[in-house]
Amino acid sequence: MSPVFIYIAIFIFGTIIGSFLNVCICRIPAGQSVISPASRCPQCGRAIAWYQNIPIISFLLLRGRCAGCGVAISRRYPLVESLTGMLFVWVFLRFGLEWATPVYWLFVAALVVITFIDLDHQIIPDVISLPGIVVGFLTILLVPWISWLDSLLGILLGGGSLWLVAEVYHRLTGQEGMGGGDIKLLAMMGAFLGWQAVLPVIFFASLVGSLVGVPLMLLKRADGKLAIPFGPFLALGGLVYLLWGQQLLMWYMGFLRE
Ligand SMILES: [Zn+2]
Repeated sequence: MSPVFIYIAIFIFGTIIGSFLNVCICRIPAGQSVISPASRCPQCGRAIAWYQNIPIISFLLLRGRCAGCGVAISRRYPLVESLTGMLFVWVFLRFGLEWATPVYWLFVAALVVITFIDLDHQIIPDVISLPGIVVGFLTILLVPWISWLDSLLGILLGGGSLWLVAEVYHRLTGQEGMGGGDIKLLAMMGAFLGWQAVLPVIFFASLVGSLVGVPLMLLKRADGKLAIPFGPFLALGGLVYLLWGQQLLMWYMGFLRE
């Protein structure tokens, strides 16, 4: 079988999962079930038929509008679907036919849901991060290069280090900077990636977070509080570590030797 065919099949599989992630992003913050009822137009309540619910394609065929009332459908839907499809292909390119591939599909799916919910509501729901810690710890047994101890230490270091940063920030400024959600998210990433990932992820997230966040804060003249959610930057850091961690580490070690 040609590899291109496999990549296309994985991309399509990813968009179908992405379609489900859209439902999670909409419903989890509202405390609704992600299983039932079936998808409906939020405007007119019209049930969406299966052939109108094909990832990306339906959005294009319907020209981004509900077939019933014509209300515009958010571009977020095809975006999340294609993003998930691309990430699934990327994970497969990185790990190939290993158990690590489905394990990290699960991981990136959780990161996608957390990122968009955090962008919308500035919360990271416990219903994803807390089971995510357990699932990460259990599934990592299928990944030969991360031991259960690496994973356990990752949970402790991930949870502990951000808790410490949040505590120091709170003592210094008297404000709540980082939410408890970020702490649980980093613990989840520690479970899936091992303790070695925790500091690089925090470093990357803080770096990109300040590059993006500081100009935004100046622009909006906010009071310097961390009004921008940190979760998406942590998620991005986890993703970069997952896909390029080894290369970055080797580059960094080579850099140190010079
Ligand atoms: Zn409608």
